Amino acid sequence: MRDRDKKSDVRIIDILDRRRRPLLSFEFFPPKDHRGFAALEAAIRELRILQPDFVSVTYGAGGTSRARSLAVCELLRDVGYGPVMPHLTCVGATREELEEIVDDIYGRGFRNVMALRGDSPVGEKAFPIVTGGLAHAVDLVRLIRRRHDDMCIGVAGYPETHPEAVSARRDIEYLLLKVEAGADFITSQLFFETHYYLNFVERCRRVGIKCPIIPGLLPAVSLRQVDRIMALCGATFPQRLRKQLEEAGGEGPGAEEKGILWTVRQIDELLQAGAPGIHLYILNRARTALAPQLAECLERWRGE
Ligand SMILES: Cc1cc2nc3c(=O)[nH]c(=O)nc-3n(C[C@H](O)[C@H](O)[C@H](O)COP(=O)(O)OP(=O)(O)OC[C@H]3O[C@@H](n4cnc5c(N)ncnc54)[C@H](O)[C@@H]3O)c2cc1C
Repeated sequence: MRDRDKKSDVRIIDILDRRRRPLLSFEFFPPKDHRGFAALEAAIRELRILQPDFVSVTYGAGGTSRARSLAVCELLRDVGYGPVMPHLTCVGATREELEEIVDDIYGRGFRNVMALRGDSPVGEKAFPIVTGGLAHAVDLVRLIRRRHDDMCIGVAGYPETHPEAVSARRDIEYLLLKVEAGADFITSQLFFETHYYLNFVERCRRVGIKCPIIPGLLPAVSLRQVDRIMALCGATFPQRLRKQLEEAGGEGPGAEEKGILWTVRQIDELLQAGAPGIHLYILNRARTALAPQLAECLERWRGE
């Protein structure tokens, strides 16, 4: 086995269980064209200096980005990152196709996977299940567990409740089902106020969810970008932060600094409260994570 294969074989849950310091992870998305890919490659190389404990790569709607998503996973592994976790959704695929994809991921040496339902297309209320396909992330967790019992499975959790959920309580109960079906850890949807996460963790523990829950944070460095993302994920964007970004011009260096300082405060609060680590939605930008205030904060928490 080559060195790079050995690295990918580490299960994220084992790193979480053995951790002596908070974990750091980054999420990338597969770019659409060569230019985007080249920019991502440069960012990936720059970000290595921060030594994240693992990295993940999103999977596009309808599986259209499947090949690109796996290409980014392979690139991350080639550059020397630790465990690389491909995301996988149920969108547009039958059970048999999903089994093939999972086997492919496993065959390439990846031992971690993020199991998701995927989003409903914009404008559609109900999730479009394909004939012979899966309706919920829990079904995908079961499918992966049955095929490759040694894989580490991550699932998504929603501190402010999933937008389509019947109720906050039912949303947590369904999350419990995902964990009982074999999910090893939860990564949270982005949020901007620490109390959402703390309350979410408390509610999870109350129903018996014991696994690690990693908070997902998005540094809000551009108002335009944030507004686009907020419309999709349904999280609350605090008026106070909006005002700060507006006063700094909405984007550019001033706004970036405000967004980064907000994230630094969130990281301090979350890690002080005992969160197992931080997952950064860095949107393929090295500059954000390498900003001195953020890099210093991460170093402070993770330094030996
Ligand atoms: C960390 C993270 C990473 C993500 N990565 C991607 C990505 O790479 N690609 C992508 O397309 N999207 C991604 N998403 C978005 C995600 O696909 C959407 O939020 C999607 O709408 C829900 O996915 P889920 O896995 O949480 O679904 P589910 O767990 O299936 O939940 C979806 C809804 O159904 C309800 N529900 C769950 N189980 C049941 C059940 N058994 N019976 C009835 N109702 C149920 C829940 O309450 C919820 O309202 C990500 C989200 C997060 C938080």
